[in-house]
Amino acid sequence: MKRIIIKLVIITDFIAIYIGDDVMLDIKDKNIWRELLTTDNPELLEELYSSARIVQKEHYGNKIFARGLIEFTNYCKNDCYYCGIRRSNRDACRYRLTKEQILSCCDSGYKLGFRTFVLQGGEDGYYTDERLTDIVYSIKSRYPDCAITLSVGEKNRESYQKYFDAGADRYLLRHETANTDHYRLLHPQEMSCENRKRCLWDLKEIGYQVGAGIMVGSPGQTIEHILEDLEFMKELQPDMVGIGPFLPHHATPFANESAGTLDMTIRLLAITRLLLPEVLLPATTALGTLDPTGREKGVLAGANVVMPNLSPESVRENYLLYDNKLCTGSEAAEGLRMLDEMMKRIGYEISLDRGDRAGREVREWH
Ligand code: SF4
Repeated sequence: MKRIIIKLVIITDFIAIYIGDDVMLDIKDKNIWRELLTTDNPELLEELYSSARIVQKEHYGNKIFARGLIEFTNYCKNDCYYCGIRRSNRDACRYRLTKEQILSCCDSGYKLGFRTFVLQGGEDGYYTDERLTDIVYSIKSRYPDCAITLSVGEKNRESYQKYFDAGADRYLLRHETANTDHYRLLHPQEMSCENRKRCLWDLKEIGYQVGAGIMVGSPGQTIEHILEDLEFMKELQPDMVGIGPFLPHHATPFANESAGTLDMTIRLLAITRLLLPEVLLPATTALGTLDPTGREKGVLAGANVVMPNLSPESVRENYLLYDNKLCTGSEAAEGLRMLDEMMKRIGYEISLDRGDRAGREVREWH
């Protein structure tokens, strides 16, 4: 029997796959995504991961950027069906950090060497534009050499502009799914896929480094939906992409749904690395929760960011978007040391630099 040769070929920005002698597909083509997402050919998958590593190293060497994550509020006005801190979860133990507490997290993070702070929270009306811009401005004034990433959900364009003017550099807003019907399955009526996409385009136009992304294996998700997600990301050209497995939370309508798989998540990480070669791609905490070696496998499939937690230890276990969240409860310094050892074991090293997207011009902030 003739052996089928499978080869991924990288020629500057053109990445192609050869299957057999004469089938050649461009990585920007939907058909190759489908093939890579569904194949059970181990040779092809190994080609996929090694190609993703080549592209990752070409742009970032062996650096894995660590971002200091501050989960500053778990109040949320929304009721996303998959989320453990949705407003209907009366059992969630709610908390908010004060501006002083947030600054204190940044102080200790800065001393450890972090040069990116990620402020993440639910859509909490307590943090009005005035309060949030004040927090962003205070961090940026104290640490002008640091990047500030916000992840606080859907806002109007004027609000996004205010945060940007105050010093926010990046914004993470996973689109979750680009398919309108699938979006409806995951979110209540008052939320819409159109508005989520509008937010992402607004953020991009304002000048943020923008992060989109999806949950892998969310209820009702099909391969066709994932293909639409890749199509959307090809169009949006985000600077960052958050891809993690869906993990159920016991106090949500999806409590009994199956989790997403490690296999599908790392395939998607690798495809995303090839599709958007310079993207910043986290190996998520959810991946580490799903599998003890999940983050290493994510990095070996092209991921290049990790987000250790700088939040006060007393609140960490209350920011539970899904069950059994990987939460060491250890000091930030200890968490960082463990991550560094983990990365060294697989030939990478943690970098605490700002780590902007390769080739991206960084704005001056005054
Ligand atoms: S996913 Fe985000 S917006 Fe939705 S309920 Fe959870 S914190 Fe709120």
